[in-house]
Amino acid sequence: MRMLLMGPPGAGKGTQAKVLAERLGIPAVSTGDIFRQNVKDETELGLEAKRYMDAGNYVPDEVTNAMVRDRLSEADAGAGFLLDGYPRTLPQVGTLDDLLAEHGHKLDAVVALVADTDVLVDRMLRRAKIDGRSDDSEEVIRHRQDVYTAETKPLLQVYAQRGLLVEVDGVGEIDEVSERVLAALKTVTE
Ligand code: AMP
Repeated sequence: MRMLLMGPPGAGKGTQAKVLAERLGIPAVSTGDIFRQNVKDETELGLEAKRYMDAGNYVPDEVTNAMVRDRLSEADAGAGFLLDGYPRTLPQVGTLDDLLAEHGHKLDAVVALVADTDVLVDRMLRRAKIDGRSDDSEEVIRHRQDVYTAETKPLLQVYAQRGLLVEVDGVGEIDEVSERVLAALKTVTE
């Protein structure tokens, strides 16, 4: 299974990615997590990514694409993966297409978690208080929603045209949403 988990910031992608990857027996590859780990380790990549992340902007495509290329070439991703938070721009879609084609692979499904923006902003403000992320002021949170709408939301149309998109209601208990996703996956992969 090679799948993407998409949806606006705060829709619970990270949480669902971990649960679903476990259930499906594939690694969850989260570009946000990889960037955060690099920031924590103060690597060159982390230092570069941090200024974009703190402002709620996307890390440049060249940087993100190179990182994903490296990660997906690791052995554990050979038999499948769940990408969380990638691709987020049209050039990233192209890079992922190329990466998959190089190995004779293709995507099986693209799951989009759907939720109301106001509900998400509330959820993110609550989460920010608990986690203390550095990209967590209300202004940055709203900006991240706007960047998603402008840059990433249009990608849903691209995957819908390819017949890969399944939209799932992202509001509810973690288990409830996971079950919805697993049920929805059956409809596209069968
Ligand atoms: P996330 O945890 O997925 O919301 O990602 C946190 C931050 O990492 C984002 O706000 C971006 O700054 C950066 N990031 C994660 N994935 C990408 C991506 N595919 N392209 C560009 N920037 C990304």
